Amino acid sequence: MELGFTKANSSNLPRVDLLMMGEFLASNKDFCSVESRNVKTAVSSRPSYGDDAISYVQLKRDGNLCVVKSKICPEHKVHGKLYRVTLVVDEVNETVSVDCHDCVASQGGCKHAVAFLMWVHRRSAEPSVTSVACYWMKSKLSKVGTTIKYLTAKDLSNAKPSLPSNSVVLDKFIEEGRKRQLHNCELIKFQEDYVPDIVITFSMHKLVFKYKEKSCDTCLEKLVLTDADVKLIEDNKVKVVFGTN
Ligand SMILES: [Zn+2]
Repeated sequence: MELGFTKANSSNLPRVDLLMMGEFLASNKDFCSVESRNVKTAVSSRPSYGDDAISYVQLKRDGNLCVVKSKICPEHKVHGKLYRVTLVVDEVNETVSVDCHDCVASQGGCKHAVAFLMWVHRRSAEPSVTSVACYWMKSKLSKVGTTIKYLTAKDLSNAKPSLPSNSVVLDKFIEEGRKRQLHNCELIKFQEDYVPDIVITFSMHKLVFKYKEKSCDTCLEKLVLTDADVKLIEDNKVKVVFGTN
């Protein structure tokens, strides 16, 4: 933690309401440039990005001003360098500003700044609870691969996925898998109409299942490989190894 700062929690975080946020976004040209308007802002303001990416929130109060600092985990490289973002709230005049110190080009108009601003706003809008939540902690995203091995969609953020209670999603997934001829997806392999990659049909595993012979000789007699098959196997370096007894 930096000198003079304290850990942020749900009881000491400054309030950023919708009007303050709107005023800042509207008056800041970095957020209103053509390319960052709408699309980018919409992506980084999604609750799912901010809530999982924000870490080590600390704050310091000095007169009217409350300075809140955080480190933001990059969205795609979860073990990459964390982005330092500072948000300043004037609690008397009710204004807010936010800066990202690690995006050179964007001058604060980047998704980390937006994500942090939206995060503080969402915390302000949350109903007060009796327990105090501490925000000085590692982000969920940067825990992936270290403290936690993987993150299921269910655990991501507190987002409640609203999946239909029928099999529409599954059907769509399988249809898409078929279209793309996926061969590295276990779910697709178990579908009745799954057509395996031809090379895989020559694997020892598949051949054993196909011929189911107790004697290796009988199996070899039955096994017919055309020249084209052999060429294909060679090209794909598939190992077809037979035992001797
Ligand atoms: Zn940034």
